[in-house]
Amino acid sequence: MSEQDTIFSKIIRREIPADIVYEDDMALAFRDINPQAPIHILVIPKKPIPKLADAVPEDYTLMGHLLLTAKRVAEEQGIQNGYRVVINNGHEGGQTVFHLHLHVLGGRQMEWPPG
Ligand code: AMP
Repeated sequence: MSEQDTIFSKIIRREIPADIVYEDDMALAFRDINPQAPIHILVIPKKPIPKLADAVPEDYTLMGHLLLTAKRVAEEQGIQNGYRVVINNGHEGGQTVFHLHLHVLGGRQMEWPPG
């Protein structure tokens, strides 16, 4: 198992199950196993970038694609009235899985500030 091999790499390779809602050549989206809202989807790049701070200029197109994938997934899940997209970056940012991911949360009123 390489340093960049996380539970999300195993989901990409179908080595562990996930409730996948979208896939293309660059990205995968699946339901969070511990949902914090009625709809809670994770959008991840297939490229194993550990965290946002590790993204480089060559990831420019991929990063835009992930945001557009979050928008697409939200529309497909019927939460276009409002949703939140979150990236936790690093330990102090609350990140626990070190494979970049966007949380798409919706289906309830979101509060601010987050904890
Ligand atoms: P973060 O704290 O931003 O790193 O988010 C990691 C997220 O991954 C958490 O919301 C977890 O509930 C979620 N998670 C961990 N393992 C799995 C899994 N096997 N399938 C789906 N979601 C997972």
